Amino acid sequence: MTAGRIISYVGAAFFLIFGFLFILAAFGEQFNSGWLIVGFILAAIGFGLIFLGGRLKKTAPADQSVTLNIDLPANVEFDSFKCQNCGGALSTDNVEMVAGAPVVECPYCGTSYQLTEDPKW
Ligand SMILES: [Zn+2]
Repeated sequence: MTAGRIISYVGAAFFLIFGFLFILAAFGEQFNSGWLIVGFILAAIGFGLIFLGGRLKKTAPADQSVTLNIDLPANVEFDSFKCQNCGGALSTDNVEMVAGAPVVECPYCGTSYQLTEDPKW
């Protein structure tokens, strides 16, 4: 995930939640068409941001490899890098930085786990 995607998804969640609240409020004790319109506009902005966030995904791999080269523990060797659960061959594409720690997600068995400083494979 790039910073741009995270920002656009957080923004989308914000607009969708407030849009939903405005639409709910519009159908309160007294129907308020102004709030209903505001709600739909906010929801539309939210969906627009999700759409933009999805488009940003295409530029992500370049950013990701730069981050990985800097942040991964030095003694992790990716040439002989195997899944701890099923032994399937993994690559740096299967590693994501989560809260500053490298997390592997195996494409073969679906397991995800943190990389440790002292890998056992
Ligand atoms: Zn696996």
